[in-house]
This record gives sequence, structure tokens and C-alpha cells, in this order.
Amino acid sequence: MTQTGDGQKNAHPLRLTNTLSGSKQIFVPRDPNRVTMYVCGPTVYNYAHLGNARSAVVFDLLYRILRHSYGRVLYARNFTDVDDKINAEAVRTGQPISAITDRFISAYHADMAALGVLRPDFEPRVTEHLSDIIALIDRLLEAGHAYQAAGHVLFHVPSFAEYGRLSGRSREDVIAGARVEVAPFKRDPADFVLWKPSSDDAPGWESPWGRGRPGWHIECSAMTEHCLGLPIDLHGGGQDLIFPHHENEIAQSVSVRNGAAYCDFWVHNGFVTVDGRKMSKSLGNVVLAHDLLERHDGQAIRLALLSAHYRQPLDWSDKLLTGSGRALSRLKRLLADTVAPDDGDAVEAISHNPVVLALEDDLNTPLALSALFGIARKLRHTDPGEKRSRLRHELVAALSLLGLDLESDGLEIRRHGINATHDAVVADMVAQRDAARRRKDYEEADRLRATLRAQGVVLDDTTHGTRWWKSM
Ligand SMILES: [Zn+2]
Repeated sequence: MTQTGDGQKNAHPLRLTNTLSGSKQIFVPRDPNRVTMYVCGPTVYNYAHLGNARSAVVFDLLYRILRHSYGRVLYARNFTDVDDKINAEAVRTGQPISAITDRFISAYHADMAALGVLRPDFEPRVTEHLSDIIALIDRLLEAGHAYQAAGHVLFHVPSFAEYGRLSGRSREDVIAGARVEVAPFKRDPADFVLWKPSSDDAPGWESPWGRGRPGWHIECSAMTEHCLGLPIDLHGGGQDLIFPHHENEIAQSVSVRNGAAYCDFWVHNGFVTVDGRKMSKSLGNVVLAHDLLERHDGQAIRLALLSAHYRQPLDWSDKLLTGSGRALSRLKRLLADTVAPDDGDAVEAISHNPVVLALEDDLNTPLALSALFGIARKLRHTDPGEKRSRLRHELVAALSLLGLDLESDGLEIRRHGINATHDAVVADMVAQRDAARRRKDYEEADRLRATLRAQGVVLDDTTHGTRWWKSM
């Protein structure tokens, strides 16, 4: 089976806007058999708001497309469970930190599952990686990119000549824009904290520099390296993370490795506004995905979150959600009305599918959704027969790639119980089936296909070999 690696031979390769270059580029992973992706996850002191949910859904879609193209994708998304906002919440409610973070991590898992978001292969938490973080800070000190001052360890920004490449801000812009914390012990105003001391009543860990806790940026550098190995292919997050968070991650991870590459592709999603206004605590218009899910279908929320191009702002409104809910009900009815007894194999429907082509072009979801509704319109006006069956397969395959599974409620939940080792088992079965096909043992090949299908695995036999992906 040559499913992994086919992405490069694909006539329509995946194109993505890379924040590093500011332009749309063909995505080329370093190893097509092991694509690596890291996304900055939530700080867990509250339920996920729509901004968190949009990022999770956008990168879930990207994960699905990468798996469609390459098969084997290693995806890590962290939980920030050490943070001053968590500390404040712990003090306010008189609970230990872990009671708060555990509770909101479980809620995040449940809410994202309801939005059809697949669990990443790695979900590292800061509290589980303190030794990696401390070791990385130690290496930065040794390499002369960091220094100790007043109980803190700081990254020395002038020691890294490439600082500002991702965000397009020079060190001078940074200082002039007052985006830095002023502290008398800093050698340079742009220097940022790697480690800070903790008072006795605040959470802290023993370190060579005394009891303290890490700064925010160092956690992602340490956890990316630990989970995926460096360099990685793709790093994602919301646009608000470009500066300073991702700029500082690059400074840490590149300088500590003497200039070696950290990550090739940087992908950032846009903001969510609510009724045309920025979503903010001070305006009191923060919408929690958790609250929406009490009254609305998760799939409708997912569809609404995908309605704008991921790089553009998404304006949330009741009208958008209602419209998405209605569109999904119509699709569900259409699928029920057109079901045929021999349906069940959507294999050929994925190649040349206009929805897939739109998604491969920088995740163009507005175009993909209009193509999806175009297929539905044609299907609605086609009489039973081969053509209708093909259109229906095309629609089901497209919905599945978008993470909208309207036919099999509950399958998604089952999928979450399957861990990463399942991918290896599937790859092995696909290889066995390919071997059976080569020796023309079609009975065995069909038996393996049926077994895989029962596990939600869709096969696509191309001229290069068999590609596969999980429909849910
Ligand atoms: Zn991060």
C-alpha cells in the first residue's frame, strides 16, 4: 500500500497560507509517512468560548485533510494548565488548581467531541512536562541565549538575530509598541520570561533557580519537541498567538538548537466576532460553546464555524446558527430520502470531488460548502439509478471529510475510544488487502475491505495504490 506519501504525487496538492512567507504555498512535509502538527490549545480555567471552538474545528478539519492526503499524521494539541488566570480562579473558589483544570479539560473534551473534533494523538499538559521545560531553559542558559536575574530566567532577545521574522515586528517595534512587560532587571526591554519565582501560596516547582513556574511561551517549545521531535511540519493557532507567543517559541527553539529549523508551516485562524462586535469580557458578549451545546446541535455549530474562510473573521449570530441548523436538517432528510439498498461504499466519490478540491486550496470552506450544497441540489433532482447513487456517495464522502457525519450518530463517540495504535492496525490491514489484490485473491480483498468499513475506514484505490482515511 502506498497510501502514505501519495500526497506529493497528488495532482491537486494541499496549499496553505504560511504566515512565515505571507503567501499560499504547496504543503510539503519533511517525511510524507510521518506528518507532524502542533496546535496551541486552551488555557483551562473556564469553558471553551467560540474563539477556542473555532480554532479546534479549523485545525480538526486540517488534520482530517492531512490524514486524507498522507494517512499518518501525528497531531499534538496542548492544555495550558499552569497560568496566573488559573491561580486567580483557584484563589477565588478556594480549590486546588488541579480541581479546576481537570474539570475544564473534561468539559473541553466533551464539548469538542460534540462539535465533531477528533482527539489529537497527544494532549500534553504543562504540569506533566515540568522536567522537559526546566531542561530546555537550562540548555538556553548554557547556549548563552538566557540569563538569570532577580529569581527569574529571561530569554535575551538581542541574542537571536532572526527575532520578528514570523510577525514582521522588529525588536524596536516591539519596544515602541509597549507590548513588553517593563522590569528593572531585564537586560533588554524586549526580553521575556522563561521562569519566574512563585510565592509560597502560589503553585510552584523546584528548579535550579529556586521554586517557581514557567513563563507561557517555553511550554509549547518544550512539549512540541517532546511529543513530535524537531523540526515539525506545521504549527497552528489563533492569529492572536502570532505575537508574542509564536515569535517567542521560534526564538527559543531555533536559538537553542544553534539555528536549526523548528517548524516549516505556520497556520493561523481569524477571530470570532459576535453580531459584528469583537467578543470580549468587557463587552459581556463572550459566547461559550458549552452553553450553545445545551440548546443546539453540535454539527450545526460546526457547520456555522466553518462557514467563513479560516483566515477571515467569523461573525457569529443567531441567524448564522439557525441557517446552519436548517441546512443540516435538509441534508439529513435528503440522505434519508435517497438511501438505496446497495449503498454503503463511498470509495470512488472522494477523488475529483469538488468539495475536496476546494478544501485542498487553503481550506476554502465557503467554496467547499457551496459545492456541497450544489451536489445536494443535483441529487435532489436526480431519479433513482446509478447517477443518483454516485451523487449520494459524493455527498456522504464530502460530509465525512468535513467532519459532518449525518448518517451515523454515535459513531463519532466510538471513534474517540480508538487510540493512535489503531492507525497502525488499519495500515497493516490495508497492506494485507493490497497484497491480496496483487495476487488476485479478490475474495480476501473484499473481506478485508468489509472489515475495515465496519471500523469506519474508507478506502480509495488510486493508480498509486490504496489511500485510506477514517470516515469518523
Ligand atoms: Zn502555544
